[in-house]
Amino acid sequence: MARGEFGEDLLGSGNIMESTDSTVELVKDFVCGMKIDKRTAKFKSEYEGETYYFCSLSCKKTFDENPEKVHLVS
Ligand SMILES: [Zn+2]
Repeated sequence: MARGEFGEDLLGSGNIMESTDSTVELVKDFVCGMKIDKRTAKFKSEYEGETYYFCSLSCKKTFDENPEKVHLVS
C-alpha cells in the first residue's frame, strides 16, 4: 500500500495543514464533502483498490450503491 499519495492527491486544494497531531490523516468523505480522520472513521468501503472513508453509515451506503458516480464527482 502506498502511503502518502492517497491524501495529497484526493484532497486537492492543499489547505489541510490545520492538524496539530502529525499522525492525523484527514480524508474526504466523497458523499458529503466532510473531512474526517482516517484513524477514527468507522465507516469505509473499498473500491478499485482504494479505501474510502465516510462520516456516517448513510454516506457509506450512498457510496456502496453508486461508487462510480461518487468517484467521478471528486
Ligand atoms: Zn458524510
